[in-house]
Amino acid sequence: WCSETTAVVTGSNRGIGFEIVRQLSKHGLRVILTSRDVSKGQEAMTSLQREGFNVDFHQLDISDHDSITRFSEWIVQKYDGLDVLINNAGVNFNLGSDNSMEFAEEVIRTNYLGTKLMIEAMVPRMKPSPFGARIVNVSSRLGRLNGRRNRLGDAALRQQLSDDATLSEELINCTVSKFLEQVKQGSWVSGGWPQNFTDYSVSKLAVNAYTRLLAKRLLTRSDVQKVYINCYCPGWVKTAMTGWQGNNTLEEGADTGVWLALMSCPLPSGKFFAERREISF
Ligand code: NDP
Repeated sequence: WCSETTAVVTGSNRGIGFEIVRQLSKHGLRVILTSRDVSKGQEAMTSLQREGFNVDFHQLDISDHDSITRFSEWIVQKYDGLDVLINNAGVNFNLGSDNSMEFAEEVIRTNYLGTKLMIEAMVPRMKPSPFGARIVNVSSRLGRLNGRRNRLGDAALRQQLSDDATLSEELINCTVSKFLEQVKQGSWVSGGWPQNFTDYSVSKLAVNAYTRLLAKRLLTRSDVQKVYINCYCPGWVKTAMTGWQGNNTLEEGADTGVWLALMSCPLPSGKFFAERREISF
C-alpha cells in the first residue's frame, strides 16, 4: 500500500468511521472521508488534515441513490477509482432490547440496502490490483444467525440462510421485507424472531449474509480484478450510537477493520471477524 492507494470510508464524520480514517491515514493511505452532512464532513476532514494526514472529503448519503451516483462519478474523475471500501455508515435507534417499530424501515434502508447500494456502485470502480481490492463491512454480532442469546426461531429459514447452496439475494431481500411486514403488523415475535432481535439485528444479519453471497461472486473474477469482501464486529464501542456506553474505545473499535483493509495476501473473503479473529456467522 502507498500514498496512491485510495480508501473510502462511509459515515466517517464521527465515531468508528472517523477513527478508521485516522488509522488508515496513519498507514500512509489516501483516505476519502465521507459524510451525509457537508459541514460536519468538512470539519472532520480539516481536523485530520491539521494533524498532517492525507484526507479528502466528499458528500455521501448511502440511503440516497443520487448522492451515491455523484460520489461514484467524482471518485473516478479525481482518483481513477478506489482500492478499499469500508462500509461503516449505520443507524440504530435501539439503546435497549425493545424493537423500534417506528424506525425499522430507516434502519434496514440505511444499514442493509444502503450498504448494498454502495457495494453495487463501487465494485465497478475498484482498481485492478495484484494485492486485491477490498471491501470491509462494519457489522455486528447482534446479527449472527446462530447467536447464543438471540437465535432466529424459524429453523427452516435459519438453515436456508446458513447454507451457501440456498443463500441468495432474493432470500435475503425476502427475509428483510417479511420482517418489516411483521413489524408493521406487530407479529414479528410469533413470526419466528426472538423478542430481542431488533430491526438493527436484522439489518446486520442481512449485511452478513450479503457479504458471504457476494464473496463467492467476486472471487470468480480474474486475478487482478478480484475483490475481497469481509465483515467484522467492532465490539461494544463508546460512540453516539451507544449513548457513549461500551467496553471498547474508538481505537479498539476501528482496529479489526483497519487490519482487514491492510492485511497481506492470501486474503480471506466472505468471513466474519472480531478482535482480529474469525468468528462464525
Ligand atoms: P455513530 O452513530 O457514531 O456513527 C455513525 C455514522 O454513520 C455517522 O457518521 C452517521 O452520520 C453515519 N450515517 C448514518 N446514516 C447515514 C447515511 N444514510 N449515509 C451516510 N452516513 C450515515 O456510530 P458508530 O461509530 O458506533 O457506528 C459505526 C458502525 O459501527 C455502524 O455501522 C454500527 O452499526 C457499527 N457498530 C457499532 C457498534 C458500537 O458499539 N458502537 C457495535 C457494532 C457495530 P451523521 O453524523 O450524519 O448521523
